[in-house]
Amino acid sequence: MGPGGACWRGGGVPGGLKRWLSSAAPAPRVCVVGSGPAGFYTAQHILKVLAHVAFLSFSLNCDFLLQHHGGAQVDIYEKLPVPFGLVRFGVAPDHPEVKNVTNTFTQTARSERCAYYGNVTVGRDITVPELQQAYHAVVLSYGAEDNRVLGIPGENLSGVHSARAFVGWYNGLPENQDLKPDLSCETALILGHGNVALDIARILLSPLQLLRKTDITAGSLAALTCSKVKRVWLVGRRGPLQVAFTIKELREMINLPGTRPVLSPADFTGLENAIKDAPRPRKRLTELMIKTALEKPGEKTVEVQAAAPREWGLKFQRSPQEVLPSTDGTRVRGVRMALTRLEGSGDSAKAIPTGDVEDLECGLVLSSIGYRSLPLDPAVPFDAQRGVIPNSSGRVEGVPGLYCSGWVKRGPTGVIITTMNDSFDTAQSVLEDLQVGTLDMSSSREGFGAVESILRSRGVRPVSFSDWEKIDAAEVARGKAAGKPREKIVDPQEMLQLIGH
Ligand code: FAD
Repeated sequence: MGPGGACWRGGGVPGGLKRWLSSAAPAPRVCVVGSGPAGFYTAQHILKVLAHVAFLSFSLNCDFLLQHHGGAQVDIYEKLPVPFGLVRFGVAPDHPEVKNVTNTFTQTARSERCAYYGNVTVGRDITVPELQQAYHAVVLSYGAEDNRVLGIPGENLSGVHSARAFVGWYNGLPENQDLKPDLSCETALILGHGNVALDIARILLSPLQLLRKTDITAGSLAALTCSKVKRVWLVGRRGPLQVAFTIKELREMINLPGTRPVLSPADFTGLENAIKDAPRPRKRLTELMIKTALEKPGEKTVEVQAAAPREWGLKFQRSPQEVLPSTDGTRVRGVRMALTRLEGSGDSAKAIPTGDVEDLECGLVLSSIGYRSLPLDPAVPFDAQRGVIPNSSGRVEGVPGLYCSGWVKRGPTGVIITTMNDSFDTAQSVLEDLQVGTLDMSSSREGFGAVESILRSRGVRPVSFSDWEKIDAAEVARGKAAGKPREKIVDPQEMLQLIGH
């Protein structure tokens, strides 16, 4: 926490804040790039604290201060017409409860001191230096829009997709609507042992009557209706003690109707001792895997499992070496795996190839080895190795007034709560810099007024939050007709037409 950080949470008016309150500083204009959880949580925290300052000004009966600090404005720019980032395009359709965070984001966006400008790609339609001219502070919260690649032969064969593209496809991300994954095979291989890998396995194997009630897109539902996939292997380089998924997702897989878990007992024997002193979440997760793999199921479970038409399993200590082509060379027929042994233990254990290989037959490969952020603008430093913007508590290194939050700040890991906490941390940095005078507040900034004329000159027409609410209403209405919470519109042109753009 920097100087005076605690004062924002305290009741009184401490020195630094008093100084700022009594200065003739103009109303702060802040812009946020990206409308995912990081963008919205950053905006929310800044607005909340500045509203508190406005309230103090009011309590101090100072119209002048109220006018200045109550007039703070946060503008959110988003590349797509529609908001919410991975909450809309990442979170699995059968996890609607996770998407409830959009209610809070909607409240923020409806605040009179917040504006949403969708359909604006920063770095293309407007540069970061142009935004810096128009705002006192710019926060980059544009997430991770690419994926890590396997870097092995055959990776580009037909039938091999990144998890990112597959998730985007079933969740309606416009750029992935032409993916057309071939689901005519019986066995799919997912490379990776994280929650995204389990999400994909669940979507591939879920009974259709469950998926039909979700906001999965009509196109992907139609494709899944014809799917022949009945077996999914989730393959990881390391062992059961290194899996990155969480117990909730594992339990869902184990209890997925019509599906049988296939875990090899040999992978789990003797693990109980190894987890005696492990942190509780790791311990519980491993215990569930051990139970599933080793415990004799009851008679009823045996019956149900024997009748299950589909199955899934975890394979460990296998590192993909080559994607194998079909005889005509056009598409995938399997993956050659290098078997590994573990060096070290716990999270830091390393997978070392033993020299042995094994071929796993499959007709679909989904590589779920991580998302990756991309550089946005030459004016913004970027650590290509770590795939993040170098920063300290969200302050972009060497560029005063520029901040970052979310996945582009700390890398593409962590759930929404993690992203919320790190966004609050960034917002706190902005507020502290405002308070101690690090931010250049010597002149007022025009904010969207300046950006609007630039965008107009480039033929870019932003989408407002009330425009989004029209799209939202249309999606909900279409979904209702189909018995779903919404039917997502997947074509940005159709979205724009709907709002008369
Ligand atoms: P994002 O959510 O990706 O938001 C970034 C936004 O920036 C996007 O809207 C993007 O369009 C926009 N943008 C990108 N480039 C530009 C540009 N040039 N100009 C303007 N805007 C731009 N967490 C949970 O808690 N529960 C879950 O069930 C869960 N499921 C997940 C499933 C998947 C498949 C994935 C990948 C993640 C999941 N997460 C889940 C994690 C959660 O989604 C992330 O923690 C969170 O979305 C990261 O937020 P962010 O704002 O940094 O990035």
